[in-house]
Amino acid sequence: MEMENKKQTYCTAIVLAAGQGKRMGGNVQKQFLELKGRPVICHSLQAFEDSDKIDEVILVAGQGKNEYCKKEIVEKYGFRKVMVIVEGGKERYHSVWNALQKAGESDHGAEEEYIFIHDGARPFLDVEMIDRGYECVRRDKACVFAMPVKDTIKLADGNDYVCDTPNRAYLWQIQTPQIFEKTLIMQAYKSIMEYEDETITDDAMVVEKTTGRKVRLIKGSYENIKITTPEDLPIAEIFAEKRK
Ligand code: C5P
Repeated sequence: MEMENKKQTYCTAIVLAAGQGKRMGGNVQKQFLELKGRPVICHSLQAFEDSDKIDEVILVAGQGKNEYCKKEIVEKYGFRKVMVIVEGGKERYHSVWNALQKAGESDHGAEEEYIFIHDGARPFLDVEMIDRGYECVRRDKACVFAMPVKDTIKLADGNDYVCDTPNRAYLWQIQTPQIFEKTLIMQAYKSIMEYEDETITDDAMVVEKTTGRKVRLIKGSYENIKITTPEDLPIAEIFAEKRK
């Protein structure tokens, strides 16, 4: 008799590409700029495609960019795990919420479900990081990639005067992917979406503010940069060349 094989885990990656890239200047958004012959967004999509831990990808595109992403990214480069492209929102967390609602529509019947949320503007994600994130989220339920800060960080008073200097030993620079148990992140976002909170800049914050769950920090890499301003581009070229 054939045993029914229930999948142990089902992992969805949400890849965000709906930012306007105002800090980059110019009229091409940072996630669509060319890096080693491919748009920036393709590099992290490829890591998710190659990972045996990831089952599906939800791509979040900017307004009016759905068709472009379908033809010029997903079909052109053959990303078979991209199940759906959803439209982004005003702020990053609105974009994440749109994707989470889509993810919430299906139950894949796995014993554990996890969501990896990743900035499409971070091209240096690799399969090894995804593996480490997978192991960590199964243990801790909420985790984010990060690196200890190298510089001293000051807190300002709003008028460019220093009001505090936090102890550097406790400061981490936060990256993505940020990875969560599906029910945890769904509930956290559901509560935060009841009011507008302009201070939200990452997903861990949503969990910190609305649940008692501690978020685990996992060491990422100093190369896992987010391409944001023009000076990031030549640095990204060097990292990409090194990896080739
Ligand atoms: O704006 P920020 O640099 O924090 O953006 C991080 C990622 O989130 C980028 O990949 C960007 O495309 C995405 N984003 C989005 N929707 C927004 C704003 C940012 O998908 N409204």
